[in-house]
Amino acid sequence: MKFTSTFALLFTTAPLSHAVSTMSSKKIHNVVIAIAMEAEAKPFIEHLKLDQSKDFFNPRSPFQAYQGKYNECNLTVITNGKDEVHGTGVDNVGTIPATLATYLALDKLEVDDNKVDLLINAGTCGGFKSMGAEVGDVFLTTAVANHDRRIPIPSFTDYGIGKIESTNVPNLAKALDAKMGVCTTGNSLDAHDIDHHHMKENEASVKDMEAAAIAWTCEMHKTPHFGLKVVTDIVDGDKPTQEEFMENLGTAAKSLQEALPKAIEFICGKDHGEL
Ligand code: SAH
Repeated sequence: MKFTSTFALLFTTAPLSHAVSTMSSKKIHNVVIAIAMEAEAKPFIEHLKLDQSKDFFNPRSPFQAYQGKYNECNLTVITNGKDEVHGTGVDNVGTIPATLATYLALDKLEVDDNKVDLLINAGTCGGFKSMGAEVGDVFLTTAVANHDRRIPIPSFTDYGIGKIESTNVPNLAKALDAKMGVCTTGNSLDAHDIDHHHMKENEASVKDMEAAAIAWTCEMHKTPHFGLKVVTDIVDGDKPTQEEFMENLGTAAKSLQEALPKAIEFICGKDHGEL
């Protein structure tokens, strides 16, 4: 991997994340799937009969891990667990838990000499009808960026947006009949005018609350990554996001459960250039 990234840096001006993933010829056998909410993850975990790994995360953390094999692949699904800090008991959605859970999982697997070949951030998202998104669509990310990290000091602006290329997966998109586009991330489910302005600047097709944070964490570990997101609600539509989200969460989780195993089936045993 060290050779690959040095090689990539010498021969391309593309961001490192993109270069690492497309230049690597290593077969994919070890995949982490990061999913924020239990309701999103449950059907997939049950479908693939993954076992809960109780000692994967330190028990003081709320994070949960499920592991198993699928064909040639070792799979680790991580979820962000429930909020015990405030005692609300809801899922730990948003960038902070996603960053920490991803970091701990990648670090642990690396220390166990089980370096991760690919991380898929799977979950639900809002979709922009102006970019062709409809409820139930499956999107694969081409890049991720933040829309709520506004730092109007010139040298910090790009850091705030934090745009990161996803690993390139055009063949997977064809196989899944999925759409492709940029995912914009922020820590709010709703969106105000200023968010709409920045989401447009990010040229976003979909919107979530974790993708940019997970990608940033993967970059630290030089782990190729992309998001597989199912649209639960339309961001530039007429219905309030929260109502549409709750209405469609069940259907979207089902659609995720159909798309994810197909994605794993397609990915496992291939090298990055074939995706
Ligand atoms: N009321 C919900 C709240 C979920 S928060 C509940 O507790 O059941 C939304 C989660 O879905 C986040 O993990 C986020 O990544 C994703 N999501 C779906 N639609 C979204 C949208 N329009 N904007 C931002 N995140 C969205």
